[in-house]
Amino acid sequence: MTLDTATPRTNLLGLTREEMEAFFVSLGEKKFRAAQVMKWIHHEGCDDFESMTNLSKALRTRLEELAEVRGPRVVYEGASEDGTRKWVLEVEDGSYVETVLIPAEGGKRRTLCVSSQVGCSLDCSFCSTGKQGFQRNLTSAEVIGQVWVASNSFGARRDSTNRPVTNVVMMGMGEPLMNYNAVVPAMKLMLDDNGYGLSKRRVTLSTSGVVPMIDKLGDELDVSLAVSLHAANDELRNELVPLNRKYDIATLLDACRRYLAKCDDTRMLTIEYTLIKDVNDQQRHAEELSTLLEGLPCKINLIPFNPFPHSGYEKPSRNQVMRFQQWLEELGHTAPVRMTRGDDIDAACGQLVGRVKDRTKRHERYIQSIQIDAD
Ligand code: SAH
Ligand code: SF4
Repeated sequence: MTLDTATPRTNLLGLTREEMEAFFVSLGEKKFRAAQVMKWIHHEGCDDFESMTNLSKALRTRLEELAEVRGPRVVYEGASEDGTRKWVLEVEDGSYVETVLIPAEGGKRRTLCVSSQVGCSLDCSFCSTGKQGFQRNLTSAEVIGQVWVASNSFGARRDSTNRPVTNVVMMGMGEPLMNYNAVVPAMKLMLDDNGYGLSKRRVTLSTSGVVPMIDKLGDELDVSLAVSLHAANDELRNELVPLNRKYDIATLLDACRRYLAKCDDTRMLTIEYTLIKDVNDQQRHAEELSTLLEGLPCKINLIPFNPFPHSGYEKPSRNQVMRFQQWLEELGHTAPVRMTRGDDIDAACGQLVGRVKDRTKRHERYIQSIQIDAD
């Protein structure tokens, strides 16, 4: 194999079908090579052109010179007794991100929580990712690489009858709509039959409310949308989610309505509501939330606050969480409570991440608590 070190090789892992076709056309090859190579990468977990036996020897040699399939390096892999699995991944500049796979329904559903950025610039007051500041956007290869690594760890080839990952939620580290240009191609690969073949209802993007990008996303894709609301009035939301000062609640919910209207099927919005003791967990908050959401097709995911050092916030008692849920249900809402999963690997992995790089430690606790039940 001859390596031209002056020209970086194209990483095929993050290319959408259109981009892959353009790549092969630029080599003077037929477009259908794109589907062949995508299947090798995403269905077979293959990163070695030599093994892609339905390509000619000459093309394989050329690909070795010009291209590569490079996923994130697995620094740690853990499995919990309840079936939760997690990976600490090293991405290109030595930063770390975490990916968690959460099983449900007796293993029928396996939801992967995927990160979009290292850190986050939006500085929500109750989020330790925000407190760490923003380091950089992940590339599309690094975003889809998380799905690739999780799927590969199951070994067997995947197709429509065997999917190690059945659902994806963009609820890991970072704000996906602040990294639109990498996140959208990665989500296209999640949906593509030559990629992961997931239905659009099973891929969820969570946003703190980047309104113009919600509109843009609605023009391109109709994946499920989750909105991190956490407060039903602007005064409180300005405090919790500073982005609210730019796009207030009414503006945000209007964008959500426009998004749902663009979906070609009946779709529900997911409202994420992190319950913080004495901040947003009282009966008047539930009533205000209920009034605000009247007429909006949505369900409310209640997430008890996951404490981290110096946050200044506390987790409400279990009873208070249950009371809050009951108030919402009495007002006619669906409001599941999302409980922490994978406790038995929490400590081990937490320690490991702590040794590797402390900045992901709180986040790893948080993402285990997430479970979105797209159908
Ligand atoms: N940036 C996106 C997606 C990543 S955060 C967003 O904000 O939606 C995923 C979810 O975790 C969001 O609903 C966020 O508000 C919530 N979250 C962040 N820190 C938390 C904490 N300490 N406890 C509970 N939920 C938290
Ligand atoms: Fe960023 Fe989401 Fe954390 Fe806010 S909650 S700081 S948007 S990752």
